[in-house]
Amino acid sequence: MKESTILNHDEYEDQHGAVVPPIYQNSLFTFMDWDAIDRAFDNKYSSFLYSRLLNPSVKIAEDKIAAICGGEKAKLCGSGIAAITSAILHCIKANDHIITIKNIYGPTNTFINKYLKNKLNVGSTYVDGTKTEEIENAIRDNTSLIYLESPASLTYELQDLKAIATIAKKHQIKTVIDNTWASPIFQKPLQMGIDIEVHSVSKYICGHSDVVAGVIISSEKIMDEIMGNEHELLGAKMAPFEGWLIIRSLRTLSLRMRAHQESAKHVAQWLEKQSMIKKVFWCGLESFPQYSLAKEQMSGFSGLMSFELATKNIDEIKTFVNSLKLFKLGVSWGGHDSLVYAPVISYLKELPPDKFEEMGINESIIRISVGLEDKEDLVNDLGQGLSLIG
Ligand SMILES: *Cc1c(COP(=O)(O)O)cnc(C)c1O
Repeated sequence: MKESTILNHDEYEDQHGAVVPPIYQNSLFTFMDWDAIDRAFDNKYSSFLYSRLLNPSVKIAEDKIAAICGGEKAKLCGSGIAAITSAILHCIKANDHIITIKNIYGPTNTFINKYLKNKLNVGSTYVDGTKTEEIENAIRDNTSLIYLESPASLTYELQDLKAIATIAKKHQIKTVIDNTWASPIFQKPLQMGIDIEVHSVSKYICGHSDVVAGVIISSEKIMDEIMGNEHELLGAKMAPFEGWLIIRSLRTLSLRMRAHQESAKHVAQWLEKQSMIKKVFWCGLESFPQYSLAKEQMSGFSGLMSFELATKNIDEIKTFVNSLKLFKLGVSWGGHDSLVYAPVISYLKELPPDKFEEMGINESIIRISVGLEDKEDLVNDLGQGLSLIG
């Protein structure tokens, strides 16, 4: 079956013929007799026994996500960061070494370079992800994981996924990718040889800004190990109602992604022509340095982008951000609603200024999430904001 059919057709059969699967709002499942519950325990990760492990409302969504990603199994989690930390912990043990890239998502970075370092003495090397040879050169005897995010947060540089997967396999190192930006519609890392794919479902997969969730997708072998260890023991489960909302969200995922792409392209091309804009960071632009790699490993481009204002005057930068009416000011992204955010607000509370610069970002960089509003209205809103500065 093709992607849109998987996302919109339900195999689920209801005794009343309900067109939408119900919410299974129950913590446990009961059995006819001793032998039936005994059999369920023999097949613990595929049986409905207890909703911390498996719940039908969550499983319907998991099966659809696994199918569109080309994975054997998926596990939804209570947040994106729960999916990320579960996947990382699956790949490492105390005293191991992780290779990752400079611009990864903030809390992932904190988990690797503070939590794992302090608790488990896990080492890490941060490389420029655009240079595959830097990744290979960083490999040590105790390297057990290459953790990727392509495109990366804020500046959207890519990593060459096929090349990195080949290197990792040669050295028997696991690979994990945070694929949130591209969504499962526009990039299929498992098909390029990456071992484990994770998403913040709070972004495009949910798409309605009403759920915080995450997902891990991989082979059955890896997923059963994660389910029996990190997922079960750390309790990262998703609630049934959220599973049900994700089934709803998945029906429109490919339609939404195409709409985000179309509007984002319009906005990015318009921004590039404005005198008060110094640079636009969006890998769907022909001027983007890795545009050809982007075309090769993604089939489309989502709606999150950044741009650098041609001013360093903080009052002007604030005036611009505060003047926007359709782009609401807030964190997160990937929903129907357009958003604006200035990374300087939180990054400088977490990072020293030189580290901020080292990541290739500065106070003039503004991030926007292009939502599902009309693209001309969005450009007009940005235009009136820019007209107030410079
Ligand atoms: C938001 C985000 C996460 C974390 O997901 P939560 O659902 O907020 O826990 C991870 N990676 C990326 C790239 C994100 O944008």
